[in-house]
Amino acid sequence: MKDAAPPSPSSVRWLLGRPAADAVQERVAARVAAWTGPRVPGLAVVLVGEDPPSLAYVRSKRKACRQVGIESVQINLPETASTGAVRSAVAELNRDPAVHGILVQLPLPPQVDAAQIIAAIDPAKDVDGLHPDSLGRLMSGRPGLVPCTPRGVMTLLDHYRIPVAGRRAVVLGRSALVGLPLALLLLHRDASVTVLHSKSPRPWEQTRDADIVVAAVGRPGLVEPEWIRPGATVVDVGITRSPAGLLGDVAPAVAEVAGELTPVPGGVGPMTVATLLANTVEAAGGTLDVGA
Ligand code: NAP
Repeated sequence: MKDAAPPSPSSVRWLLGRPAADAVQERVAARVAAWTGPRVPGLAVVLVGEDPPSLAYVRSKRKACRQVGIESVQINLPETASTGAVRSAVAELNRDPAVHGILVQLPLPPQVDAAQIIAAIDPAKDVDGLHPDSLGRLMSGRPGLVPCTPRGVMTLLDHYRIPVAGRRAVVLGRSALVGLPLALLLLHRDASVTVLHSKSPRPWEQTRDADIVVAAVGRPGLVEPEWIRPGATVVDVGITRSPAGLLGDVAPAVAEVAGELTPVPGGVGPMTVATLLANTVEAAGGTLDVGA
């Protein structure tokens, strides 16, 4: 990257996830407190093995459930569990009327066919929004459960009143978990969206023109200041664990150029958990106005 203009100093506005996530959680808690159905919303989390980051994610999701009054159960399966064993656990949860949402913590061990497991979840309980039925609904703009991180990003943008309609957005990453659904959500909200991936040449030529740049790649520091138009909104979804702590996809110096930027940690992460709670209440039949 040689031919870019030098970054101009600016005072970045940090888009902190916690206040936006708290606003979602307060609405969820109020909705659960006023619940009149036979059973309060219930979430089942399936954990296969003991991967430390997965254990930490599951702990924080269940803690958030407790905070808002959602019942949660955890199903632990051994690291050696077969696809059939995980499928059976999911099938049992599909039948359980106390369970409104099922989350299979990813990644799964290599011997488990993750696509088969996700497809085995009752779409009505698919609070991660990854079932082909949910993704098809999202694609065609029909109501359905939306993957938590992309929906959380939209809620974050709305919380900080970042306009989306009519703006140019670039999404780095095209996974079914984050990049693709987020591109669709931005498109449904009338942004002009470009999706970039590992085979995209000279990505900075696209990002430099964008009003909104979302990085969902998993490569620390990929997005450099020269990639960003001064004043643009930058959302860093990336999380990479390192001895120095959690690292995002966006180089720290981008803060000197961007108008708005999400920190890592403390940006998108809390939104993912809060959105899971909202999805669980909606799967249980509750309505919520949390945006996106
Ligand atoms: P993933 O499945 O590994 O997908 C990564 C995507 O990045 C792929 O589409 C890949 O392209 C693309 N990519 C790789 N190198 C690239 C490059 N140089 N330029 C542009 N795109 C490139 O990962 P994921 O599940 O989407 O997650 C992405 C990141 O978000 C990870 O760091 C993950 O930990 C993080 N994450 C955070 C949260 C949160 O709550 N904050 C939630 C979920 C995920 P190809 O398709 O061509 O391979």
